[in-house]
Amino acid sequence: MWFGIISLFPEMFQSLTDQGVTGRAFREERAKITYWNPRDFTQDVHRTVDDRPYGGGPGMVMKTQPLADAIDAAQAASIADTGHRAKVVYLSPQGRQINQALVQEAVSEEQLILLCGRYEGVDERLIKTKIDEEWSVGDFILSGGELAAMCLLDAMLRLVPGVLGHNQSAVQDSFSNGLLESPQYTRPEVWEGLQVPEVLLSGNHAEIEKWRQQQSEQRTSERRPDLYKRFKN
Ligand code: SAM
Repeated sequence: MWFGIISLFPEMFQSLTDQGVTGRAFREERAKITYWNPRDFTQDVHRTVDDRPYGGGPGMVMKTQPLADAIDAAQAASIADTGHRAKVVYLSPQGRQINQALVQEAVSEEQLILLCGRYEGVDERLIKTKIDEEWSVGDFILSGGELAAMCLLDAMLRLVPGVLGHNQSAVQDSFSNGLLESPQYTRPEVWEGLQVPEVLLSGNHAEIEKWRQQQSEQRTSERRPDLYKRFKN
């Protein structure tokens, strides 16, 4: 996968690109990530990326020109590197809410430019002219789009073939089949007086599978009736 990131704080992404499963994905070149800092596209000596909002009010708004030029540079790189135009997504609390289905859809894109906002967000005309879609991580406000972009990237990379090791699999994870995953246990057999369910020690794979499915459905109906209703329909 090819990712272009538009961000004032590209160094934030090091925790994603250097650590754990996602770090390995980048080291093994299963994914490529490149950054464009809007500050590098400013045209004044102060390298200004924000300005006061028309109509007044608190906070600042990101200026159009440095963002537009950064997106154009990222798009040119996508075409040069992959031969394809990338979908441009603005991480925004006002966007379509990200869920596992959207993550799967995103993985099929193969190249993606992610715009991380800061301050009070970006000028509406930039969204109209340069953004294909707006995606949100949930109904809460972050200080910037970087953490939202990293959540999305992490979730996407888990679905890229070869990123998870042999003994790890995304197919059993919650949401992959519309349900929450069944409870998990590891050694010891008894801990704090609590026993691992007998069936998991039985070695009977058919019974274990049946138990897991039943637990998964029960858990989903109790915790996420919305998901359970959709699963049953
Ligand atoms: N004034 C904006 C509003 O009320 O819609 C919020 C701006 S927020 C402080 C700054 C930036 O953080 C946004 O431009 C966006 O990129 C990012 N952001 C904040 N919450 C987010 C969310 N729930 N999902 C995705 N991005 C988010």
